[in-house]
Amino acid sequence: MFELTLRLARHDTRLWLGRDGAPILAADLARRPRPRMLLTDNQVARARARQLEDLVEGSDLHRLVLPTGEASKNSANLLTVLAEMGSLGLERHSPLVAFGGGVIGDLGGLAASLWKRGVPLILVPTSLLAMVDACLGGKTAINFGGLRNAVGTFWPACLVVVDLDCLDTLPAREWAGGFGELLKAAWLSDGSWASRLEQDPAGLLRAGHPDLAGHLKRALRVKAALVEGDEFEAGERALLNLGHSFAHALEARGDGELGHGQAVLFGMLAAARASRLTGAAPPAAADEMEERLRRVLASLGLLPARKLVRLSVANLMKAMTQDKKVREGRLRLVLPETPGRARLQDVAGETVAEAWRQWKDLVR
Ligand code: NAD
Repeated sequence: MFELTLRLARHDTRLWLGRDGAPILAADLARRPRPRMLLTDNQVARARARQLEDLVEGSDLHRLVLPTGEASKNSANLLTVLAEMGSLGLERHSPLVAFGGGVIGDLGGLAASLWKRGVPLILVPTSLLAMVDACLGGKTAINFGGLRNAVGTFWPACLVVVDLDCLDTLPAREWAGGFGELLKAAWLSDGSWASRLEQDPAGLLRAGHPDLAGHLKRALRVKAALVEGDEFEAGERALLNLGHSFAHALEARGDGELGHGQAVLFGMLAAARASRLTGAAPPAAADEMEERLRRVLASLGLLPARKLVRLSVANLMKAMTQDKKVREGRLRLVLPETPGRARLQDVAGETVAEAWRQWKDLVR
């Protein structure tokens, strides 16, 4: 069992991590007024049926189930959730429990931040990616107008219950995504931790692995420190976007080919190439980073990535410049210097395009 509390501007976030989070949830919900609502998706509703049944009945929650998948993070579903909150008569202090992966957390978080200008949000992250990263820090969003996370707010959960039992039903293809965010945390903070993670990614990624909880706690501590220091991302918190500018372009142009965390791994590889081209990493360090990331991608069965090689650099650049602010032709990127340290730097558009071109040789 592990707990941490994040001291934030509006209210704190209490995070609990362990097995069987039911009593923690029940105790918290018991002191919050009715009506209370729970949001989930249909795949999680099926996979976690028993656990959800107990929670919904035991804590008198009204359940709303949305279709699964990234496409659900849209404005129509946001309005559906808000309409349900309205017809239920959710009060200012009535909680919304978002029980699911990063999609349900982001969408539910946005709805919770908007209804009555903000109702208490309780997150129960059920995917590895949501446990490692998305459950902490208060970023909420939907995709809009073809742009990822274009409409969002900062609205931290008051309680996060990371119940490791949920991983028992996580489908095999979802684990690599969680690994992407886990490795990112290590690459931001500690090279030897990163090496340990890289030794056997495929072996680590299964429910009940004895080292998994330890890695999760470390990643959550890294995120908590960056968020507490810079809650609204004026500076240092942006380091958490390592690999993400490239990843968002791959997700936008990849036709749902890649999950978010898998795209982050490919994005870290492109960022390593950008570090080489800008001199943020000397050639020997860049060689090492690229080799290590290629090994990880291969061990997760993600290389060779023939479909990604066919994406046009012009299109990827277009997606990237729609996603990011471009100042005088330069993009602000997170560049890895070594596994364990990264920096924020403005990079010329031509250099980013060249990084994409050369990245294709690394993933083919
Ligand atoms: P997701 O929510 O779509 O979950 C992935 C799939 O796994 C879904 O089909 C879901 O139904 C299923 N699933 C989840 N938990 C399960 C379980 N225990 N058993 C069975 N099936 C389960 O996607 P994700 O990978 O969890 O999250 C990706 C999203 O998170 C993206 O939209 C991304 O933008 C967002 N994100 C947000 C933050 C943040 O700080 N707010 C950080 C990182 C990512």
